[in-house]
Amino acid sequence: MKYISTRGGAAPQNFSDILLGGLASDGGLYLPETYPQVSAAELAAWRELPYAGLALRILEKFIDDIPGDTLKDLVERAYTAHTFRHTRPGCDAADITPLTTLEPGLQETRRAAPSVSLPPRGEAERGEVCGGGLYLLELSNGPTLAFKDMAMQLLGNLFEHVLSVRGETINILGATSGDTGSAAEYAMRGKHGVRVFMLSPHGLMSAFQRAQMYSLQEPNIFNIAIEGMFDDCQDIVKAVSNDAAFKAQYKIGAVNSINWARVLAQIVYYFKGYFAATRSNDERVSFAVPSGNFGNICAGHIAHQMGLPIHRLVLATNENDVLDEFFRTGVYRPRGASDTWVTSSPSMDISKASNFERFVFDLVGRDAAVVRELWAKVDTGGSFDLNDTPYISRLADFRFVSGKSTHADRLATIRAVWQQHRLMIDTHTADALKVAREQREAGIPMIVLETAQPVKFAETIQEALGCDPQRPADFDGIEKLPQQVAVMKADVQAVKDFIVSHCT
Ligand SMILES: *Cc1c(COP(=O)(O)O)cnc(C)c1O
Repeated sequence: MKYISTRGGAAPQNFSDILLGGLASDGGLYLPETYPQVSAAELAAWRELPYAGLALRILEKFIDDIPGDTLKDLVERAYTAHTFRHTRPGCDAADITPLTTLEPGLQETRRAAPSVSLPPRGEAERGEVCGGGLYLLELSNGPTLAFKDMAMQLLGNLFEHVLSVRGETINILGATSGDTGSAAEYAMRGKHGVRVFMLSPHGLMSAFQRAQMYSLQEPNIFNIAIEGMFDDCQDIVKAVSNDAAFKAQYKIGAVNSINWARVLAQIVYYFKGYFAATRSNDERVSFAVPSGNFGNICAGHIAHQMGLPIHRLVLATNENDVLDEFFRTGVYRPRGASDTWVTSSPSMDISKASNFERFVFDLVGRDAAVVRELWAKVDTGGSFDLNDTPYISRLADFRFVSGKSTHADRLATIRAVWQQHRLMIDTHTADALKVAREQREAGIPMIVLETAQPVKFAETIQEALGCDPQRPADFDGIEKLPQQVAVMKADVQAVKDFIVSHCT
């Protein structure tokens, strides 16, 4: 399996060659040359597999330069019931991503109903969308309580393996507004050959998120709080990475959301969720995905391309609706940082979706010249419009629909789920659930991806429910632990100096 760039100007690479890097040399993103297909026999055989077993089957189709036994070991060590601790009664610990039923499907409530009249779309009463239940797929039972752990835990093992085979080391430099940084740090802690330098905006993360990151006492993890916004952190990372000499000398690497292995690892739970919500492979399901950088739903798109019977991919945004706008109008109009709203689902506060180029590459029939032309506009602050191109009519084949949600919607959704099910959901999951309800169709199970636990966003839970979110026992008193963080001005040189002084 070779990997090619969406802009067509980089030599095809092996998996291990692109694992540690970010962008391709021509500025594009890597994708597999072709998407491996899943046969009906494979789909049938995979249905009963535990998470790690399923992950191995899927990863084997994309990775051919790591020996099978080694890959098996890396995967099994990533997806253990010790690392992903769900407490869902009736679910196997090895499930890793348990499915919670919000509203049962018809076959679960009224088995073998002879004939049912289908309620019109969007108007069905609770529990009465025929045949199609409403589910939450829990992706947030990892060490940092957000779905980023699903990919990052595997990435840590893959990095350590490839670096040790090559006798290399890497210094990961990243910027985070919360979830990515902690997921990367918990995945890379104690890993040989890896140091992490993580920039975060000083004083802007929640107390819980700060405690998660800054209380880590690991010799290979360095937290840097920048006196500025998330965008300032991002700009510093870009400036350092653009200094080719510095980057080469200090072996600067990235784990941001364009990393191919992160997208790859996320494909697995679409299969897992499908099997959990269906009884036979003749059924189709829809997935609702709270989206920011398009990494999560990009994995769903690839699962669909591999042959997973997906009916619709429901993309949900918050007030930062650049992706919703595209799927409704065919116009992709990235906003400037100053036009990005700070919302109560902060991990979706993006104005430019960094993985979107991967989808557009497929949409335009994998014509790299077209992608180059479109991104020549995007990269210079412009937009593009696919109306009046042949691509707009192909959009339907990819099964995307979209919607958006506001702060008031989040509060209402969190309240309704609490009142109806005694279940607390986080703000990002609430965005997806709101749009999922609008997009449900008769007979099709709808699986909402649950991307974080409410404890990470306590302020909004307080606002919605008037009480504090539930907190997993391991996190009791985490805010009181000693914290280690270097605070500095938004200054590229200061960050470089810090890296240099901690690399010896
Ligand atoms: C990162 C994140 C998202 C957005 O995922 P993308 O892959 O960027 O689209 C949604 N919810 C939570 C909780 C996240 O951490």
